[in-house]
Amino acid sequence: MKLEPVIGLEIHVQLKTKSKMFCSCSNDANNQEANSLICPICTGHPGTLPVLNKEVVNYGIKLALALNLKINKKSVFERKSYFYPDLPTGYQISQFEHPLSEEGHYVLKTVKEKIRIGIERLHLENDAAKNTHQKENSLIDFNRAGTPLAEIVTKPDIKTPAQARIFVQDLRRICRYLEISDADMEKGQLRCDVNISMRPEGDQNLYSKTEIKNLNSFKSVEKALEYEIRRQTELWNTNKPPKEETTRGWNDSQQITELQRSKELANDYRYFPEPDIPTLIIEDKIIKKIKAELPELPSAKKERFMKEYELSLGDVNTLIDNKNISEYFENVVSEFRDWLISELESTSETENELWENNKKKALKLIKGWITSELFKLMNEANITIEELKINPENMAEFIKTIYLAKVNSSNAQKILKIMFESGGDPSQIIEENDLGQISNESEIEELVENIIKNNPEQVEQYKDGKINLIKYFVGMLMKESHGKANPEVGEKLFKKKLK
Ligand code: ZN
Ligand code: MN
Repeated sequence: MKLEPVIGLEIHVQLKTKSKMFCSCSNDANNQEANSLICPICTGHPGTLPVLNKEVVNYGIKLALALNLKINKKSVFERKSYFYPDLPTGYQISQFEHPLSEEGHYVLKTVKEKIRIGIERLHLENDAAKNTHQKENSLIDFNRAGTPLAEIVTKPDIKTPAQARIFVQDLRRICRYLEISDADMEKGQLRCDVNISMRPEGDQNLYSKTEIKNLNSFKSVEKALEYEIRRQTELWNTNKPPKEETTRGWNDSQQITELQRSKELANDYRYFPEPDIPTLIIEDKIIKKIKAELPELPSAKKERFMKEYELSLGDVNTLIDNKNISEYFENVVSEFRDWLISELESTSETENELWENNKKKALKLIKGWITSELFKLMNEANITIEELKINPENMAEFIKTIYLAKVNSSNAQKILKIMFESGGDPSQIIEENDLGQISNESEIEELVENIIKNNPEQVEQYKDGKINLIKYFVGMLMKESHGKANPEVGEKLFKKKLK
């Protein structure tokens, strides 16, 4: 029997609003002392009243719109009761029957496929405190208690572990573009639980699902699903398909899932409307306003970059992964385009035609130097695009010198390195360090003639048919000119003189 996996995701995203969800405590726990960002509300003292932070709702609406969800005009906060030391109130304030938003979808595109993943809902809720279990005792930090989360639940439309991983990666990118969360999985800013069951191919029924928790990297999402597919396939093949819903945890060191609880032990949350928070009413004009302010989202930017800059999906992915990098790239292109148009001033072509006719070579250079050499320098120095000293104008000017063959590629690397360290202007760096390229034939000719004169043996072999020696001659030329001679001009001259 051929089986297929049925996969759905439940993802919690920490929203990085300034203050917590129901009180005015700071929501920025970075490098803060444990239990320093707390008040009677977020530590659940009796008699305190929560007040909903509007910014949390705005952030939630942004993400909901990005996932094509329908925003409900009315949504209701409810108490989800359970007992655990990290939950001082004894209940979480979440949304159940009437969530903020429902019925969305996301189109997931990879090199190989394009699939539509239904999004069941996105609702808002507060986070619990943070427990740290040590050998002999457990510590608890209430800084996280009462901080806002958006919970996203997908439909079981995901068909492979890789699709699940890519969905979570795409979601992280969307959160970053929207600037509502850094969505770093390692830091717990994005937490993903997966649901998976198997079924005979073509069967439309849903069978008892298994929930896997404790996934704290993209890789573990994929690995845990791969493991679970193998485990459940084995069960089906021995006529013992899972009969009840269970929860399993991912053991990253052993790369296996382990049973945590079965249905008999499942929680009963006793949901009921939170009496202290009024029904949330969202007016159309608010939705319209937020929609109008949304940035260009990664998937739209991806499409546009592929079309406008004629880039491959792989190149586009590296450029758009970070919004500021994609903007940097576009600024360099635009600076370069302005220069090219003013340089090539033409009466017969419009500006657009000029650009269209020359952009192929230019874009190839710009993309290449940014994604390989510049990224390499940034990685080595471990700096972000915000910390980069080379502004787009200087980067465009640097590309220009290569475009015009004013420097050769090995000197270009040296120039870029100096620019990277000092942030200086490329023309000045070329002059100060004598790194310009000699393309002038008569200057090169003298060197070529000397090399021919001093290497009679190789010249003879070349003339006897060992034409590969041309590389040797060009190598000599580069050495003699301290890397400044234009190798193409040199090769042409050697060929001419050795005929
Ligand atoms: Zn508080
Ligand atoms: Mn939740």
